[in-house]
Amino acid sequence: MNSTTKQRIALISVHGDPAIEIGKEEAGGQNVYVRNVGEALARLGWQVDMFTRKVSAQQQTIVQHSPNCRTIRLQAGSLEYIPRDNLFGNLPEFVKNFLAFQKENNITYPLIHTNYWLSSWVGMQLKKIQGSKQVHTYHSLGAVKYNTVKTIPLIASTRLAVEKEVLETAERIVATSPQEKEHMRSLVSTKGHIDIIPCGTDVQQFGCIDRQAARKQLGFGSEDKIVLYVGRFDPRKGIETLVRAVARSQFRNHPNIKLIIGGGSVPGQSDGLERERIEEIIAELGMQDITTLPGRLSQEILPSYYAAADVCVVPSHYEPFGLVAIEAMASYTPVVASNVGGLQFTVIPEETGLLAPPQDVDAFANAIDRILNNPQWRDKLGQNGRKRVESKFSWDGVATQLADLYTEILHSTAVEEKQPLLLSS
Ligand code: UDP
Repeated sequence: MNSTTKQRIALISVHGDPAIEIGKEEAGGQNVYVRNVGEALARLGWQVDMFTRKVSAQQQTIVQHSPNCRTIRLQAGSLEYIPRDNLFGNLPEFVKNFLAFQKENNITYPLIHTNYWLSSWVGMQLKKIQGSKQVHTYHSLGAVKYNTVKTIPLIASTRLAVEKEVLETAERIVATSPQEKEHMRSLVSTKGHIDIIPCGTDVQQFGCIDRQAARKQLGFGSEDKIVLYVGRFDPRKGIETLVRAVARSQFRNHPNIKLIIGGGSVPGQSDGLERERIEEIIAELGMQDITTLPGRLSQEILPSYYAAADVCVVPSHYEPFGLVAIEAMASYTPVVASNVGGLQFTVIPEETGLLAPPQDVDAFANAIDRILNNPQWRDKLGQNGRKRVESKFSWDGVATQLADLYTEILHSTAVEEKQPLLLSS
C-alpha cells in the first residue's frame, strides 16, 4: 500500500459523460479522457467518483465501472440534452446537487479535477465553499477556439473570464501539450501554475490487429488505398479540407481509392448539419462512389478501422490534443495532421506522419499522396508512431503522472476541513 491508497478524488465533467458509450451522442475526447483517467487512477488505488450532468430520466444515476470507480449523474436543468454553450445557467444547480450528494454520503472531496471551462466554474465554487483543491484540464481554450470560428457565441465573454480565473486560482492546470501551455500563457494569463501531462490511449486495444486481418474483417481488399478520418462532425475538425484534398489527390481516380469518414450522428441530431454540409461537398465533387460515411464507430471496432487504413487524416483547424492521432499511431498507421496545437506534439513530421497547414488543401493532398505512393515508408512511419505512443501516451503512464501531481497537491498544505454548505436554490 502506498500513501495514495484509497484517497478520494472527484473528477467533474459536466457536459462530457464518461459513462456513455463513446461513439454515440455528443461524445468525444473529453469523455474518453475522463473515463480512462478515472479507471486508471482506480487501478492505482484511488477512490474515484466522476460527476456529470444527467440528460434523461432513463439514465442510471450511478454507474459503477469498477469497485473504486463510478460515474454519478447530477441533475442540472431539465432532463434533456442541452448544447454546452447554453449550460452555464444550470451550473449553480449542479453545485447544489454536488453538495447534497456529499452530505447524503458523508463525503467531502479534498481534491477536484475539473474538465472544460463549465466544470472549472463548478470547481471554483467548491473551492470557495469547502476549500477543495482544484486541478483543471481545459480540453479546449476559448481564446484559441474563437480565433478559428466564424460566429462567436453569446457565452464567449463569460467563458473567457472563467478560463482566466481558473488559470490564476487552481492549484494546478494540466496542459496536455507544450503548445497548449504556450497558448495559455500568451492568450489567457501569465499567472497560475501549469504542468504538462498528455492525454493517453489504450495501447493494448489499439494495435491489436494487423492491416490485412483488419481489412478482411471490414470487407476491404488488400490492394485498397484507404484514407481514414475519425471524429466528431464539427466545422473546426476540417473534414471539408480532407474531402477536397482527396478530390485533388493523384489517387482520385485510382480504382481502389477509398475515403472513410467515421463518426457523427444520423441526420437530424445535433451534429447533423455539418454532416449534411460535408455530404453536399462530396456530391458536388462527384465522390460518392469512393466515400463511405459509416456513422459513429464503437471503440470495439475502431482498432480495425485504424489498422486497415493506409493513412489517418486529422485536418482540424484547432486541436488542443487530438486523441485520434495517437489512436491511429498506436495502430501502426501514419497520421497526416494539421500543423496546430497538440498535433504538433504528437505527430513527428517525416517520422510518424506528416503535418500540413490547416485548411491547405494542396498540402494535405500532397502529404496523403506521399504516403499512399510508398507502402514501405508507410510501414516505417507506422512503426515509429507505435513506439512513440508506447513510450509517451499510455493511460497508465498518464494516470501515474496525474496521481503524483494530486499527491503533491494534497500534501503541500493541510486540506481545510470546512463543512459543506448547501447553496440556496
Ligand atoms: N470516437 C469514437 N467513435 C467515433 C468518433 C470518435 O469512439 O465514431 C472517439 C475517438 O476514438 C476519440 C474521441 O472520440 O477517442 C475523439 O477525441 P479527439 O481528442 O480526437 O477529439 P474531440 O472529440 O475531443 O474534439
